[in-house]
Amino acid sequence: MKKITTLTTIALASILLTACVEQPNAKEEATTHTKHATAHHKHWGYSGDVAPAHWSALDDKFHMCSEGKEQSPIDVVATKDVELAPLSISYGQGSKSIINNGHTVQVNIKGGDTLTINGEAYELKQFHFHTPSENHVNGKSFPLEAHFVHATKDGKLAVIAVMFEEGTENPTLNKIVKSFPLEKNKEAKLEFSKEYLDVVMPPKRDYYHFMGSLTTPPCSEQVNWFVLKQPQTASAEQIAAIHKEIGMNNNRPVQASNGRSIEK
Ligand SMILES: [Zn+2]
Repeated sequence: MKKITTLTTIALASILLTACVEQPNAKEEATTHTKHATAHHKHWGYSGDVAPAHWSALDDKFHMCSEGKEQSPIDVVATKDVELAPLSISYGQGSKSIINNGHTVQVNIKGGDTLTINGEAYELKQFHFHTPSENHVNGKSFPLEAHFVHATKDGKLAVIAVMFEEGTENPTLNKIVKSFPLEKNKEAKLEFSKEYLDVVMPPKRDYYHFMGSLTTPPCSEQVNWFVLKQPQTASAEQIAAIHKEIGMNNNRPVQASNGRSIEK
């Protein structure tokens, strides 16, 4: 039976979709960074003064990063064995662009691809990568994790996470890797048809479900997470190429699950 938590209505989508976008002009940012950092939202990152442990101190708007009780990522260990409904996915419109926003490499979707949860359509907005993985599964980390980010019109969020282990080369990732190097904060054309469906839809679509948060500031909660159990494969070269393009480890450390329900 369906055991998907009903979400409260929070306009998170715009936050999520802009949270990663830094100053659009890298040159301008370099010269005026200090001014901007105090005037606008704070620069955040994965090391030094702006590392995850400091996120909540960087900006009042980031308070959930330290105060939240259902933060992501987590070590996914199932607490509840239920009969989860199959993921209801209708993808195929394709992508329009790719961007290195300084935090990740992100593929933007044309629109119209949906994940349906309890009769409500969540539209796929983008997918992006973390090296190494953010979520762990039963204590295990993976070298690469993809997040497929969906939002309803009123801003409810759902993320499908796909783990990659090192192995056979992945044709979809090849198309992404071929677009490297990317100019930072500048969208480049990348027209996928629906190949990314193969990444998110391995032959077995079983998943873990739990409630969590954005893994980047402002760390907003009430995000429906679906972590696919079956990892995909990527070659060592592909994983290295994505890591090199991102330029760092961009994984927030695992957060306390605080007894939350993790369904399998
Ligand atoms: Zn992510």
